[in-house]
Amino acid sequence: MVDYELRVLSHDAHLFEVRCSVERPDPTGQRFSLPVWTPGSYLIREFARHVIGARGESNGRALEVEKIDKQTWQCAATDAPVTFIYEVYAFDLSVRGAYLDRGRGFVNGAAVFVWAHGFEQHQASLRIIAPAQSDWRVATAMPAVEIDTRGFGSYRSADYDELIDHPIELGDFVLQQFEIQGVGHQIAITGAPGDTDFGRLTADVARVCHEHIRLFGAAPFERYLFQLLVVGDGYGGLEHRASTSLIASRKTLPRVGFDTNSEDYRTLFGLFSHEYFHAWNVKRIKPAAFVPYDLTREAFTRDLWVYEGITSYYDDLALVRAGVIDEGAYLELLAQTITRVLRGAGRLKQSVAESSFDAWIKFYRPDENAPNSLVSYYAKGSLIALMLDLILRSETTVSLDHVMRALWQRYGQTCVGVPEGRFEALVEALAGAGIARRLRAAISGTDDVPLEQLFAQFGIAMQVRAADSADDKGGKPGKNGAARVSLGVRAEGKSDPKLVHVYDDGAAQAAGLAPGDQLMALNGLRITEGLDAALKYHRVGARVNVHAFRRDQLFETQVQLKQAPIDTCWLEIASAETSAQRALRQHWLSPVDDDAG
Ligand code: ZN
Repeated sequence: MVDYELRVLSHDAHLFEVRCSVERPDPTGQRFSLPVWTPGSYLIREFARHVIGARGESNGRALEVEKIDKQTWQCAATDAPVTFIYEVYAFDLSVRGAYLDRGRGFVNGAAVFVWAHGFEQHQASLRIIAPAQSDWRVATAMPAVEIDTRGFGSYRSADYDELIDHPIELGDFVLQQFEIQGVGHQIAITGAPGDTDFGRLTADVARVCHEHIRLFGAAPFERYLFQLLVVGDGYGGLEHRASTSLIASRKTLPRVGFDTNSEDYRTLFGLFSHEYFHAWNVKRIKPAAFVPYDLTREAFTRDLWVYEGITSYYDDLALVRAGVIDEGAYLELLAQTITRVLRGAGRLKQSVAESSFDAWIKFYRPDENAPNSLVSYYAKGSLIALMLDLILRSETTVSLDHVMRALWQRYGQTCVGVPEGRFEALVEALAGAGIARRLRAAISGTDDVPLEQLFAQFGIAMQVRAADSADDKGGKPGKNGAARVSLGVRAEGKSDPKLVHVYDDGAAQAAGLAPGDQLMALNGLRITEGLDAALKYHRVGARVNVHAFRRDQLFETQVQLKQAPIDTCWLEIASAETSAQRALRQHWLSPVDDDAG
């Protein structure tokens, strides 16, 4: 058994204190390490950089501690029990780190708890100590042993891996509950306005959860907790085995007595749905490269698209199947994903297999050139999942639902790692070599996912056009048919806009403009209302003089304007659809049959 203690040392200095005790330590010198990354987020974060004042104790006396690499401490040799004590600076609002102020505390275990070398498989007990003079409560999915009514006290995990897979929310949150097939679900909401329509939120979340449970047959956990932090502007989530930590913007919440803006509300539900699906896909159906997690270095896999792409496909699909959104809204979401993928020239250079493998240095560390150099294994991965599902549904008697159930039964239920490429092999076994070949080509190639013909078989017409404006995300028919001119950039700011991205083969790149350049004037006139407005009365092919600053140097160049690329998609029900096409579509978008396995 390894015993942990977590206490608030200082709200205002944002410090937790952690004590980790081992009864029978390694007699040659017990080592303790903090992960360099957290499962679910593929970036080396080196959490040890937030550790302050590490020290050791044995039988009440100080024990010498030496740091031996960036994340590891070694205590002096002793046979007596050892306690390793350290402070963690916690002021990272993201779901991957730790946070503490007067209002709230949050712990993602990987950022806060060290493992004791040699004891990774041992039970871990955690005592969470209540801060003085506060009415805080605890929300965590970690199994409790002995806790008070507010949740402070002792918890237990089977091993270190489980200890860091139950994030801990501390504070004054609103707690909502519902049950599905006897499995208790809770939503702990921090920072929500008082007039939030909690009832509607909870009912809709329950419908979505139910849909995912129907797909796989049963919930793989005894209880589940959503931790939702509401902020002014933010979006993100991190999946865990029986919980998830979410951050969402205030505007996405439903309010009592008001019609919720459906687009914002959809965004919130996509997040709930996505992380909940991960309880099966990636937390239990997981890559062999993650069994066990090596938290001292990167864990490479070419299959992240399976875990993030397929999850991204099902997150929105479950919303329409559960009736939280209608068919039109679902087609709009799909078309926006297609648009996102079409807008990056990086899709022509990197496959989703390569994007998965290089996630650590590319997707998670995007720079100004990202749209030109990489493809998202989330977005394109979800289109590959869509392609596969449509192929299976129109050409075979199975669907992606069957593939996921088979994956669950063979790997997820037993938590055996899925070897690289096994997903494709499973598709081959279920649906034949021809379909598997098309799937493999999509995974390892850089061609656009061939969706247009597939959509047609489901009575859906896929259309593309140029973007109406810089804010046009696609999903709807365009507003103006006129050709829009394009500089081939993403810019920020209305006055003297700054270039964020300069797209390959665009007019700006050909004129020598670069990310970071600040555009001051077009044809001698200052840009004050944004680029779209400044370009409005120019024609395709026109040459315009641009004055710009690169750092503090003013320069002038001539840009020949191009036509805006045809990169914006919308989908609509084909007017000439047959009843067979309609039936295929309706079956695809209906709740999963309970006998689909
Ligand atoms: Zn995800």
